[in-house]
Amino acid sequence: MTLVSTDAIVLHVQDYLESSRIVRLATREHGVQSVLARGARRPRSKFGSSLDLFASGVAQFTLKPGRELSNLSGFDLTRSRMGLAADLDRFASASALAELAMRFAHADPHDDALEVLGRSLDEIAGAPRGLSTECGLAAAWRYVAALGFAPTLDHCCSCGTELPVDRAAPFSHHGGGVVCERCKRTVSIGRELPAEARTAVSSWLSHEQGEALSDLEKRAHLRLLREFLHHHMGDGRALRALDGWEARLRRPA
Ligand SMILES: [Zn+2]
Repeated sequence: MTLVSTDAIVLHVQDYLESSRIVRLATREHGVQSVLARGARRPRSKFGSSLDLFASGVAQFTLKPGRELSNLSGFDLTRSRMGLAADLDRFASASALAELAMRFAHADPHDDALEVLGRSLDEIAGAPRGLSTECGLAAAWRYVAALGFAPTLDHCCSCGTELPVDRAAPFSHHGGGVVCERCKRTVSIGRELPAEARTAVSSWLSHEQGEALSDLEKRAHLRLLREFLHHHMGDGRALRALDGWEARLRRPA
């Protein structure tokens, strides 16, 4: 049993017994951890409101071998991001991002996935009015890239031939990117990616704002993201928050 102190982001919070909470944390050194915050629901708990969803902080907990729940002894809040819960569109995309972290984050003190996750949540929280879906999509692709799964958009994912992003190209979920005319006979193709969609994902990955999308384009992008995650990173299990985000876009405004 070791006491650790690590940068962390709150991904999920659930009530436990009468007064406690079980919190899922993305941490820098120890991957995703479930910790028990004893007494966190008591009025004068030492945790106060620091353990709100999407908050960043420094978590101290005892790391136990095996699957046993670790005890959270402290959480020093550095950023609360409470605004994310005040807007349903932002909340939907932030939840999908947290779900990605819960499923795919790994323990690597040397990569910057935790920073990218924090920055991405900040970007969604600060999304200009009417652009929260675009910001959420950009954030999701950047986080996927930080986890090491960036899609290939400017050259063939099979042979490496350069493919200018200003035209449509077949996209292979299995191969993880666009495919040239020659290789499309041998690589399984998911769908044709229009030039606008390639440009949008490329610009998001290069940290550019990208254009505002039509409702139809938003839905197509969510579908692309879902299919990519299922084929390239997933284990076949449903991504419920991502599905919920997609369902929101299908509803009439
Ligand atoms: Zn090729």
